[in-house]
Amino acid sequence: MSLNHGTMDLVSKDRQFLWHAFSPYKDQAPPMVVVEGKGSWITDLNGKKYLDAMSGLWCVNVGYGREELAKAAYDQLVTMPYYPLTQSHVPAIRLAEKLNEWLGGEYVIFFSNSGSDANEVAFKIARQYHQQNGEHSRYKFISRYRAYHGSSMGALAATGQAQRKYKYEPLSGGFLHVAPPDSYRRPEGMTEEEFNLQCARAIEQTIIWEGRETIAGVIMEPVITGGGVIVPHPVYLEEVRRICSKHNVLLIIDEVICGFGRSGQKFGHLNFGIKPDIVTMAKGMTSGYLPLSATAVRKEIFEVFKEKADYSHFRHVNTFGGTPASCALALKNLEIVERENLVERAKVLGERMAREMGELIDHPLVGDIRSFGFLMGVELVEDQQTKQPLPVAQVGKIIAACKERGLIIGKNGDTVAGFNNVLTFSPPLSSTDEDLDFIIQTFKDVMKSQ
Ligand code: PMP
Repeated sequence: MSLNHGTMDLVSKDRQFLWHAFSPYKDQAPPMVVVEGKGSWITDLNGKKYLDAMSGLWCVNVGYGREELAKAAYDQLVTMPYYPLTQSHVPAIRLAEKLNEWLGGEYVIFFSNSGSDANEVAFKIARQYHQQNGEHSRYKFISRYRAYHGSSMGALAATGQAQRKYKYEPLSGGFLHVAPPDSYRRPEGMTEEEFNLQCARAIEQTIIWEGRETIAGVIMEPVITGGGVIVPHPVYLEEVRRICSKHNVLLIIDEVICGFGRSGQKFGHLNFGIKPDIVTMAKGMTSGYLPLSATAVRKEIFEVFKEKADYSHFRHVNTFGGTPASCALALKNLEIVERENLVERAKVLGERMAREMGELIDHPLVGDIRSFGFLMGVELVEDQQTKQPLPVAQVGKIIAACKERGLIIGKNGDTVAGFNNVLTFSPPLSSTDEDLDFIIQTFKDVMKSQ
């Protein structure tokens, strides 16, 4: 494809016909129209190349341009393009078995299209599970402020970011929030461990104050990713697991970003040695090449849906969830991750990124650097003592300077709550050493010029 043909025409048609996701209209820069990708690099319509250190939206884990993924989807489309999972097909069976192996066994898998879908399914399963156990009043869910769990009315209700919600309320009812274990901003004089235990116990307190018989589940990511890369102390998740079990509340772990190797383990929660009741996943399952998500449910929970002959089954279907080509592509994607040892690679790359980027901690605008596997957040502040967040315009300038030099990074926060100051890095797990050199060097150069 010639990259220079019709550039202006395409840009003006983009303006005319395309509604961009989560993007302001005022003072907008011309869109970056991407045309191809290879490894960690993408090329825009003008032929400029960028290293995509966000893997699209945290999803292109095996990198761009994998022909074998396209071929897996093509072969399946030719053989059997579609059948609903009210019945079954071979790629769904094989993928469900594979996911079970990755999770460490004893889960049953429900397929959907997106991370939001997977979380909606988790909420519905949790409510029905309790009802079928005779606990009809358990309908509420607890999640954390700053976390993101999706864009649909339930998943958005679980989300703890005002900026995404306040124009669309009322959302689904029954969602409560507690503070996240943001150790960087913990009270003075408290150890990280003490603070994290206090945050976990705020969940127990909420369960008790709300009435334990009203709580269906707790949903959380192993590490808050899109809300600013908030990494808990290991005691936090252990304590949350203990509290959920004690009060018969289901623990739903959202692995939409942390799953499939990003954390340096197959799933993020495996870093903390806990066993969730429900695990939701999407993005990295197909490396973003096709839509697919899943809700993995512990066998004992699934058994409750089988007990009674009538009305006990899960009354949920989505037309495209677990479509054969997506499942076939996901299987090939996981095969690549295994063949190229990308889970271990994420750990190695992540450790190097944390070590070398860690040198920036003395930069006056850097408040905190947090990492989890091959995922990093750099929290920018105006003043290291007061921890006042760096104004969003200045954060935007740093991101623009990186982009100018061919490096795409992300930004997280909550503009309505008054901060948007965490830069994020989530490069493809298949990145080469040279790719990582480029990320680190470019970012350091940009920060040096600030
Ligand atoms: N959960 C988490 C943790 C996410 O990061 C996202 C998407 N960024 C979602 C759920 C929703 O996924 P989707 O955009 O596929 O609906």
